[in-house]
Amino acid sequence: MTDSQTDQTIDQHLDDLYEEAGHWHINTGQETIHAKRVGGRFRQLKWWSNSTWLIFFLGPYLRWDGRQAVLFDIPNRQYHMFGVTVLPQHFWMLSLLLLFFAILLAVVTATAGRVWCGYFCFQTVWTDIFTLIEEKFEGSPQARRKLDAGPWSTRLRVKLPKHLIWILLGTLTGASFVAWFTDGWAMWGQLFRLELPPVAYVTIAVFAAFTYVFAGHMREQVCFWLCPYARLQGVMYDSETILPTYDIKRGEPRGRVRKDTVADLGDCIECNQCVAVCPTGIDIREGQQEGCITCALCIDACNAVMDKINRPRGLIRYLSLDEEQGEPQPAVWRRPRVVIYAVIMTLALAGIVYGLGNLSTLELNVLHERQPLFVQQRDGSIQNKYTLKLLNKTGEELHIAVSVSGLSGIELAGVDEPVAVPPGRVASVVVFARVPGDRLRKAYSPVTFKVVSVDDPAIAQAVESVFVGPD
Ligand code: SF4
Ligand code: SF4
Repeated sequence: MTDSQTDQTIDQHLDDLYEEAGHWHINTGQETIHAKRVGGRFRQLKWWSNSTWLIFFLGPYLRWDGRQAVLFDIPNRQYHMFGVTVLPQHFWMLSLLLLFFAILLAVVTATAGRVWCGYFCFQTVWTDIFTLIEEKFEGSPQARRKLDAGPWSTRLRVKLPKHLIWILLGTLTGASFVAWFTDGWAMWGQLFRLELPPVAYVTIAVFAAFTYVFAGHMREQVCFWLCPYARLQGVMYDSETILPTYDIKRGEPRGRVRKDTVADLGDCIECNQCVAVCPTGIDIREGQQEGCITCALCIDACNAVMDKINRPRGLIRYLSLDEEQGEPQPAVWRRPRVVIYAVIMTLALAGIVYGLGNLSTLELNVLHERQPLFVQQRDGSIQNKYTLKLLNKTGEELHIAVSVSGLSGIELAGVDEPVAVPPGRVASVVVFARVPGDRLRKAYSPVTFKVVSVDDPAIAQAVESVFVGPD
């Protein structure tokens, strides 16, 4: 292409950009935001991050060992995750998991801003999908604004299919949530035959309503006014956090580029494309703001503009405050805050791995009776009373044989037959241990209770206790 052809193309691009520039305004909360969609690296990244939510929709249908791979079985108070069954007794691991994710959120935010908000948050992702559907039915942002200002009969006719699909999507979201708590495959038949418990229908209805209102109607207002995390971001940022930033030195003084006039302007040509694509409707050129969810779509938009007018990309780019002020940016692993977060995350993860690796299938607790500590029988033998609590952590009923050892001549009474323990339940058994009086050498002697499944001897547990006799 010759220089004059290139100039003509640039002029054409400038004409197109300025023709629509007046259409894009900063969000004042007065009207619905209809953000423009442009392609680019970060838009692509956003599609990939959005697609991680497919796990939410498809996860409940995964099978493992003949049952749902991941199931929150509330009635039986069990959580199945592939081959592992977690009971309420193990929920200390849940605390560690929550700690892990909280710190992960903090470390990511301290490093690269609100990555969760911009790429993974359900509000952002659902709004993105809902507005895509809107665009399919109602056209470009300009067409939608025109439609919003048109007669209600036209609005009703054009908008109705979109609202129906939104409601359907909201209902699917609710049903997918419920599917994690029951058999996902069986749920759909039960749903339509009205066989699910009322709480399931209420949950689906609540999810459908909130999804429809939040993603369809409130959109960025949720981020501005309802989400507490937006308020917390200031605490997590520091001067080394990289964020989508407008390069003031390069961009200012901004101004429209006129043909045939050479003005001493910066690289920002005031096309408002960065405002046009912003899902929260802010202007990144005004500096960091609470409304910025760091989705980086303005970077894509500005890069596309720079490509069109033959200027280098990066007028808006990921930049830290230090970099902006000409200070060196340390490598991420050299930042003390990141290192401390990483250590906490590693410890939490190690705790979870240890917990999962040491999950026993049978748990035994032995409680020694205190009142009285022992009873002397007529034949001179000493008797102690214990309450055994047997927790079956398997998915099958277990039949447990109980024995005791540790003292010469010790015998057990009260459990002649194996004890039946239903899956996920605790069985409580009272037993009596007896020792001939002449065999006792001291007041407190260690004894060991052993429980073993008669169905599967590999399922066993042994717990130390004490046998008490006279001084
Ligand atoms: S920052 Fe880029 S996209 Fe925004 S107005 Fe300036 S040139 Fe246009
Ligand atoms: S200013 Fe840029 S990074 Fe921030 S929300 Fe708007 S488009 Fe996303």
